[in-house]
Amino acid sequence: KSSALKSERRNPLEKEEIGVLTAERPAISIVVPVFNEEDSVELLCGKIQAVMEKMSLPFEIIFVDDGSTDSSSEKLNALADNHDWVRCIGFRRNFGKAAALDAGFSVAQGDILVTMDADLQDDPEEIPNFVAKLGEGYDVVSGWKSIRHDPVDKTLPSKVFNGVVSRLSGVKLNDFNCGFKAYRAEALDGLSLYGELHRFIPVLLHWRGYRVGEIPVRHHARQFGQSKYGYSRLLKGALDFMGVMLNTRYATRPLHVFGGVGILFGLAGFGILSYLTLLWFAGLGPIGSRPLLFLGMLLIMSSFQFVTIGLLGEFIQRQGAGRERRYTIGSTRNLGEGGPDREQSP
Ligand code: UDP
Ligand code: MG
Repeated sequence: KSSALKSERRNPLEKEEIGVLTAERPAISIVVPVFNEEDSVELLCGKIQAVMEKMSLPFEIIFVDDGSTDSSSEKLNALADNHDWVRCIGFRRNFGKAAALDAGFSVAQGDILVTMDADLQDDPEEIPNFVAKLGEGYDVVSGWKSIRHDPVDKTLPSKVFNGVVSRLSGVKLNDFNCGFKAYRAEALDGLSLYGELHRFIPVLLHWRGYRVGEIPVRHHARQFGQSKYGYSRLLKGALDFMGVMLNTRYATRPLHVFGGVGILFGLAGFGILSYLTLLWFAGLGPIGSRPLLFLGMLLIMSSFQFVTIGLLGEFIQRQGAGRERRYTIGSTRNLGEGGPDREQSP
């Protein structure tokens, strides 16, 4: 996002400025990731429109088609063709929700960004409450599905997950999984999202010094289609969370811990070898009679190395993540070659 755009941003939270907003640039951008939600997108679009017109602020909806294989992209293109406040961008293949949000953020023009799921589980009626909470001085407001309408095999792991993340991250939220959130746009500048990171945006922003708030939101059962997530996301999410923690709260700790343990190992090894060398030179006894001891040491040391190298690998992989993504702007039908493609053929 260009800094020129940033400096132009007006603050729709300040009442006197609301009056001068024009339709040129929306005050609120609603970013909706879509992966195979053909039955929901039109309904959702209508519901958001109804709410936003009541709020009488210029708005835009940005649908991000995350490589849907059903008729979602056709539906989204039709919506974009029929309403000038709807825009849609799309990935060539499925990159995941975090990547979809990242792409949506990079094209959103509003001073306030709202994210919500496409599956009608999040209720657009809550949008004014999010905006009001931002107005209290928060930079991020996260939704809390205080009453869940999901099966218990989903809500229970989610409870455990929220408890662990809250403790480790120091961010006091009840619900990290809720996709319904609102942001002051500048808080998102320069953020790079991938994998399961969408759950941890409040953690990343808290670390950057932004104020994170939470409001309870209504949550409906899924009407159409099915949830895209299974248990495989748990491991992925855990690794991504570890990446976030290593990059933020515990940024310097692993280096110290690993360095310290490394030095201890080195000293111990040096001591043992010196002792054995002494024994050998002084001719005080045989030193080659304890193969098990050496095997044990070897295993411990090599496993330690594997673990640290593994962690480094996770780090490095995450640093480059997201660079290969390409999205198109305006129409998912009109796929350009790489990079944002703003030129639409007539
Ligand atoms: N989604 C996406 N890409 C994916 C998976 C999901 O853009 O790879 C979108 C999906 O269309 C929906 C939102 O993310 O708008 C939440 O997905 P889902 O309802 O499956 O998650 P759940 O509510 O079950 O956690
Ligand atoms: Mg859902």
